[in-house]
Amino acid sequence: MTVILDGKALANKMQEDLANEVTEWKNKGYRIPTLVVILIGEDSASKVYVKNKEKSAQKIGFNSIVRRLDITIKEEDLLSIIESYNQDDSVDGILVQLPLPKHIDEEKVLLAIDPRKDVDGFHPLNVGKLFVGDPDMHPCTPYGIITLLKEHNIQLAGKKVVIIGRSNIVGKPLIHMMLNEDATVTIAHSKTKNLKNETLTADVLVAAIGQAEFITSDYVKEGAVVVDVGMNRNSEGKLVGDVDYQDVLPKVSAITPVPGGVGPMTITMLMEQTMNQGRKYCGEEKE
Ligand code: NDP
Repeated sequence: MTVILDGKALANKMQEDLANEVTEWKNKGYRIPTLVVILIGEDSASKVYVKNKEKSAQKIGFNSIVRRLDITIKEEDLLSIIESYNQDDSVDGILVQLPLPKHIDEEKVLLAIDPRKDVDGFHPLNVGKLFVGDPDMHPCTPYGIITLLKEHNIQLAGKKVVIIGRSNIVGKPLIHMMLNEDATVTIAHSKTKNLKNETLTADVLVAAIGQAEFITSDYVKEGAVVVDVGMNRNSEGKLVGDVDYQDVLPKVSAITPVPGGVGPMTITMLMEQTMNQGRKYCGEEKE
């Protein structure tokens, strides 16, 4: 029987635990964790992502601040707003929703966020720390994938992991997290020759491609674990992953659904990292 790696269920459980912890903090008279999300402009997808983050933060009981800025904001003004949140001891997490308008340099913005408050895990210092070991903050999507696999006791040590997609937010950081779990990692992309030759060797196959239902059963080894990161609209407008779920399902030992797999975990890791920074502030850091 194929195990469905239910990210929604785990995310709900983790968010409930966080909510209980926040209630305990309130009862103890501690300051509750604060997450600041900065949204620039009117991009409709970004607005939806920010709304979802706000909803989760509020449900948990965080102090949730969404700072909406006009698309014409000058880079220097954005940088000084970020700096004011860096200096504010009541703020635990700062996230600037990407993509940014063209006149703003993304690297400068990511560098401006205090790495200790970089709950998205995209600050170059955290990226570098991930390369050499364990950063303060992890990029949330790969962190969510590892958390989901561990929750289901899926062993990664010694396993062959093939990741398709080399973006800075998913594929590249996941290489290091999988290496930290002692997996043997291959990364594939659009220039990879004979993609199937690679994917058919995978004990764990991660698809982060951005193409609806690209991975069919002929790409997948019998009994493999499949993680589908993709979020795409098919021709009927339905949300689907990068994996053809129904085709692949009977062949694999475990699979993440879309929706309800990696997506809810991503947002939950954002909340977990905000809480963790709050725990440090309050001296309640978990072992
Ligand atoms: P990018 O577009 O940044 O990267 C896509 C990657 O896939 C690239 O490395 C590209 O190769 C590779 N690729 C594209 N076509 C092929 C192909 N035919 N064969 C092999 N490799 C290919 O995407 P993201 O990493 O940002 O996102 C990937 C998917 O995951 C999207 O559907 C996105 O919506 C989703 N996503 C979901 C999240 C979640 O929380 N569930 C979070 C983040 C993303 P090359 O580098 O050569 O161009």
